Order: sequence, then structure tokens, then C-alpha cells
Amino acid sequence: GSTIGIIGGGQLGRMLAMAAARLGFRTVILEPQADCPAAQTANRQIVAAYDDPAGLAELARVSDVITYEFENVPVSAADRLAETRPVLPPPAALEISQDRFNEKKFLNDSGIATAPWRVVDDLETLIAALGALGGRGVLKTRRLGYDGKGQVRLNSLDEDQARAALETIGHAPAILEGFIAFEREVSVIAARDSNGNVAFFDIAENVHKDGILSTSTIPANISDATALAARTAAEKLLHALDYVGVLGLEFFVLPDGTLLANEFAPRVHNSGHWTEAACAISQFEQHIRAVAGLPLGDTERHSDCVMENLIGNDVDSVPAILTERNAVLHLYGKAEARPGRKMGHVTRITPRQ
Ligand code: ATP
Ligand code: MG
Ligand code: MG
Repeated sequence: GSTIGIIGGGQLGRMLAMAAARLGFRTVILEPQADCPAAQTANRQIVAAYDDPAGLAELARVSDVITYEFENVPVSAADRLAETRPVLPPPAALEISQDRFNEKKFLNDSGIATAPWRVVDDLETLIAALGALGGRGVLKTRRLGYDGKGQVRLNSLDEDQARAALETIGHAPAILEGFIAFEREVSVIAARDSNGNVAFFDIAENVHKDGILSTSTIPANISDATALAARTAAEKLLHALDYVGVLGLEFFVLPDGTLLANEFAPRVHNSGHWTEAACAISQFEQHIRAVAGLPLGDTERHSDCVMENLIGNDVDSVPAILTERNAVLHLYGKAEARPGRKMGHVTRITPRQ
């Protein structure tokens, strides 16, 4: 059988390795942290930094194809691997999604609407951007933000507030996005294979708490037209990126049903975890199929469901969850339940309405 290399050893790598094993593949992860969630499910771990030349050479040596489970893989590392092995999704997808400026521009250039945005480099450009966007917005670092980190909301042209916001994000290169009074948030988990075929899971409605995904509910409470618009945007993006694998695309839904794309992740996505419980084929298997050159699987949903993230002390409810009917529990094997840390998730399924 062949071996799939995975850069990154978090819970997404863990679940990718499980899905790969079910299809008869071996997996090798590259991850500097020895005691990581994926170490328990992959066949082998190369304990090295993501840009360590020896680690990368070893990963390339033992892998037939290489994928990744997080979007901050150094592009130089992905490019280096791509010299000798297929790296899927293509490294260009990493490069674009790592920088919110590139990402927003690529979305807009691909014909996908977003919140209005401006590049921010300093106080002067921030004040100008605030003026242009109606005195209200969300300042976001261009790089390395996740779970709402590296973001500050602004609601005035006040210079002191603007200065404090720049201080909060450490004066990192940033963008300012217009503040969107959305009605709800949704995401689409989409896949494309190497022949250009695409498939979509049903759209999830997502609720965030403290900037972190809390629940995904399927079906989403949106019209068929809005759902179609979300799939159409995702399809455009997949083709524009010449993408192979699973991708998550997040949207704001306005009160009139209009969609604004927020960001995309070139990987399996937390708002797609429900697929392991409510579909015959999960997003993880779909991703493995795509990167391994197998046909995409059926995305039909057999159940309605709500996926709940277990964050920090939420794991205290695990004993109760274990006694519930139709609750599909997934724990990531992390020892310490720190605040804000994703420890696991549970998907509660009910018959499809
Ligand atoms: P993730 O963990 O999803 O990668 P992130 O840190 O990259 O998160 P975003 O997805 O950009 O951040 O924003 C996190 C959340 O903050 C959004 O899901 C949304 O609830 C809110 N938010 C972000 N941008 C805006 C905006 N322009 N207007 C209103 N709310 C916003
Ligand atoms: Mg993000
Ligand atoms: Mg997000």
C-alpha cells in the first residue's frame, strides 16, 4: 500500500490519519511536538520542525503523496517537498490563505464577494481605512490569526482607540474589514479531485463563542438560493486554485440572504467534523480520497445533527455524553484542558427531517 505524509500533528492530522488507515494507507506525520494528537493514530511521526531540512527529506523519502492539516505550513517547506513528491492541496493555496490580504484579493479576483477591506500598515492607514469603511471595522493581522486571535473591533475614528488597537496586534501588518452585521454564519466543506470533479457537503450553520467555533448545525437555516450561492462560490474558488483536496469556506449571511465570504482554510475544517457522524463518508476520508487519487465519495447526509466543540473544561461533560444516545464523541487525547483549547467534539444526530 502507499503512504500519505501529513504535515502537522494536531486533531485534524489525527482524524486524517484515522480515515487514511480505514482506506488501507499508511500515514507519517511531521510534527515537532512529540506528544501530539496525531501521534496516537498515525503509523509514524517524524519529530522535527516543519521547515527542518532533514525532517522534510525524510518525509519526502517515505511518502507517496504529502498533504497538510494546517495552513501555516511554511510555503518554502511545501515547495521543497513538491520538488520530489506531489504536495496536495497545491502549495499556492497555502500561500494565499496564509495572508488575509492575498486571501481577500484572491477571493475578490475570483468573483467572490467579501466584506469591504483595506490594507493597514500604521496609524495613518488605519484611520484612513476606518474613514473609508464607515468608522467601524475589525482589524485583523494579515498572518497567523486563528480562533479570533489577532483581531480587534473598532467602532470610532478615535485616534487613541486606533493606536491601542495597533498596539494590541503588535503593530503587525494587518487589514481592516468593514464590520458586518450578519444574520448568521455558515460554511461549506467542498472537495475537488485531480480530474476537476467537485463535491460539497451540506452547508453548516456556525456559532462562535469568544471567537472560537462552538457549534455547527446541519441543515443550516438558509434558503436554497443561498445554499446554491455558497456552493457556487466554493466551486469557483476550487477551480481558481486548481485545488485537490477538501477546503472549508466560511461566509457571513446578511439578512437578505446575500453571502459575503470571510475566509477559507485549505484543509479539513472544524465545521466539517459533523460529517464523520452524519454522512457515510467524512470530510477526512474525502480529503484522503482526493489527495490519493481515488474518486470522491458520496456526500449525502443521512442525519440532521449538531456538532459541539468541547473546549477547555467542556470535557467535564464527557461522562454525561457517554451515556447519551446518538451522541458521537471524538476526543483528541490531549492531556491538559487549558482554557480555549479544543479537546474534542460531540456530534448529536437525529433522523433527517
Ligand atoms: P478561525 O478560527 O475560523 O480561523 P479567525 O481567527 O481566522 O478564525 P475569522 O474567521 O476571520 O477569524 O473571524 C472570527 C469570527 O469573528 C468570525 O467567525 C465572526 O464571527 C467574527 N468576525 C470576523 N470578521 C468579522 C467582520 N468583518 N464583521 C463581523 N464579524 C466578524
Ligand atoms: Mg481563520
Ligand atoms: Mg474563521
